[in-house]
Amino acid sequence: MKIAFIGLGNMGGGMAANLVRAGHEVHAFDLAEEALSRAQENGCAPYTNVREAVQGVDAVVSMLPNGAIVKSVYTADVIGHAPASALLLDCSTIDVATAREVAALAGEAGHDMVDAPVSGGIAAANGGTLTFMVGGTDEAFERAKPVLEPMAKAVIHAGAIGAGQVAKMCNNMLLAIHMIGTCEALKLAEKNGLDMQMFYEISSKATGYNWSLNDYTPAPGIGAASPADNDYQGGFASALMLKDLKLAMAAAEASGAKVALGKHATEIYDAFNEAGGGGKDFGAIFTTL
Ligand code: NAD
Repeated sequence: MKIAFIGLGNMGGGMAANLVRAGHEVHAFDLAEEALSRAQENGCAPYTNVREAVQGVDAVVSMLPNGAIVKSVYTADVIGHAPASALLLDCSTIDVATAREVAALAGEAGHDMVDAPVSGGIAAANGGTLTFMVGGTDEAFERAKPVLEPMAKAVIHAGAIGAGQVAKMCNNMLLAIHMIGTCEALKLAEKNGLDMQMFYEISSKATGYNWSLNDYTPAPGIGAASPADNDYQGGFASALMLKDLKLAMAAAEASGAKVALGKHATEIYDAFNEAGGGGKDFGAIFTTL
């Protein structure tokens, strides 16, 4: 298959490389020279603009920073420039309204489009073990599956267009909440004379178990290996968690959903970001307690 891949950053770079490994011809474009030459080293064909990259392709995959960029790339250079038969897959994490708007514009030009945001960080992008949550019609989902599978551990059809983004923002709001709760519980244990490793041994097998505690323990040297063991370098940046929380808060306001803990988690990550912690893994909230 001929696939155009737009946005070859931390996530997109590894994802495009996995499409090459699966035998696809990958036309790569990124505004950053460095990202583009890394993609070339990984076997992608580099292009100097989106319009040329999408000529004659069967599918377009994008992995871009935010909704405004996704909208401008698709409306300016993909829709009406890629063949109408090309399937469009946006894997970026963006707001639901923009995902639906861009898909509607794509539909008017004859394209099938899916929103397919991912769970799993840079290691999963490199290793081809991302979980994709896909929004789109049944037909578009069936077309999207073989494109996404070489990059995936799981490809799940969440529902109609936009449903992938809804799943992603809800998942990450929950993740932020249990990460903060896990940090607080570890610290509370320590301050009351219980060794944190002992608390981990108990709670990870008791009703407190959750992914942040069991698989990504945010206290250095305690429990499972995580970025905490490396001064919170790598992993999932707090700034990206804040971005996802803000998407969730905007959707909560628009839909009238009550999200008291989500709101508080947003305030906590906002303050951490303001204090300069945005580049650190999101488990670094532990260091503020
Ligand atoms: P990144 O900043 O490393 O990569 C984005 C890339 O897009 C950059 O290389 C940038 O040069 C390129 N770009 C920006 N504007 C462009 C344009 N107009 N045309 C072409 N290229 C353009 O970000 P990332 O960490 O790879 O994240 C990408 C998306 O994946 C985001 O939406 C993010 O929320 C989501 N995500 C990230 C993670 C993670 O752990 N990093 C996990 C899940 C989802």
